[in-house]
Amino acid sequence: MNALIAKIVRKAVSALYILSMILCPIVILVIPLYIIPHFLRAPVTRQYTQCLANLKNIGTALEMYAHDNQGHYPPRLSHISPKYMESIPVCTAVKKDTYSNSYQVSSDAETFTVYCEGHHHSGAGIEPNCPQYDSIHGLTYNRTSYKE
Ligand SMILES: [Zn+2]
Repeated sequence: MNALIAKIVRKAVSALYILSMILCPIVILVIPLYIIPHFLRAPVTRQYTQCLANLKNIGTALEMYAHDNQGHYPPRLSHISPKYMESIPVCTAVKKDTYSNSYQVSSDAETFTVYCEGHHHSGAGIEPNCPQYDSIHGLTYNRTSYKE
């Protein structure tokens, strides 16, 4: 009887050993598949978050400019610097000013749109020429994130 139990225990231990030899490599290979993309995406997400902050600051500076100029926005983005903003910020994704060329003001100077020109945040799943800040909607992340 003891020999039978010992044989069953040995087979069970052997089966567990074989099972662990199969599962361990699978776990070791599968876990990085979930973790590595997170680490690869983190800098891209950080750059996008910084770009959002840049646009928010530009929008605030433009509102201050309009407040001091009878509700009219400047003809060029460079007019807010240095009085309302120390300098025009750079998008950290490309380390250059991607905002000045995209700045558009209406003919009556009462509305504006500015965005990060290009497709520098596609790694974060963002459409080209986004994020965007305009005097009507404020900050928008993707053009599809609001409905007209
Ligand atoms: Zn940007």
